[in-house]
Amino acid sequence: MTKILIVEDEAGLVTLLKYNLEKQGYETATVMDGREVIQTALLEKPDLILLDWMLPNVAGIDLCREMRKIYDLRLTPIIMLTARGDEADKVKGLSFGADDYVTKPFSVPELIARIGALLRRAIPAPIQSEVKTFQDMTIDFAKRRVTRGNRDVHLGPTEFRLLQFLMEKPGDVLSREYLLKSVWGGSIYVELRTVDVHIKRLRNALNAGGEKDLIRTVRSAGYAMDLKEE
Ligand code: CA
Repeated sequence: MTKILIVEDEAGLVTLLKYNLEKQGYETATVMDGREVIQTALLEKPDLILLDWMLPNVAGIDLCREMRKIYDLRLTPIIMLTARGDEADKVKGLSFGADDYVTKPFSVPELIARIGALLRRAIPAPIQSEVKTFQDMTIDFAKRRVTRGNRDVHLGPTEFRLLQFLMEKPGDVLSREYLLKSVWGGSIYVELRTVDVHIKRLRNALNAGGEKDLIRTVRSAGYAMDLKEE
């Protein structure tokens, strides 16, 4: 059974979410105190986490960043729930490791649709080959491990999947529309800008050791793995 961890301190909202998610056939677990989120997540091993931005004691966004550093939680899809509708906050949420972002008050059908879309793509895409190398980067698809030289590259689920699609045909320019459709399953709620935010995150992770940028931005066309070696 697919389990969703609800991290939310408003009791009424917890009840609403729990009721609707269980009606959809999901199993739920809840945690209301920010300080207990990580241990609960490690214990419950949810397939997806709904994470409130404004929690007492700990900010949701800090928890998000923390969870991405923990091996067992690094690939768990996270949807941030927030009262902030600001574009800057949205980008901030995504860049701290969330996979999607829903502004309160949200519509339950929209949230359910977003959860469904994230869970569908949490299932790994078909594996091209077990291990692929590209310049100084090695990707082990079975272990979902990426290295550059001797350095481990830490990627969230969305970035890993983006890289997977970019690596299907290195050098080919993939449009943002294509990436949106492939990586996000064509969810009508995801905007094109989200692709750029995640490409930026992927780039930052890949180049964190000061290595050469492997991704080429092709203005108004999209992105490609850069074949040029220096
Ligand atoms: Ca709250």
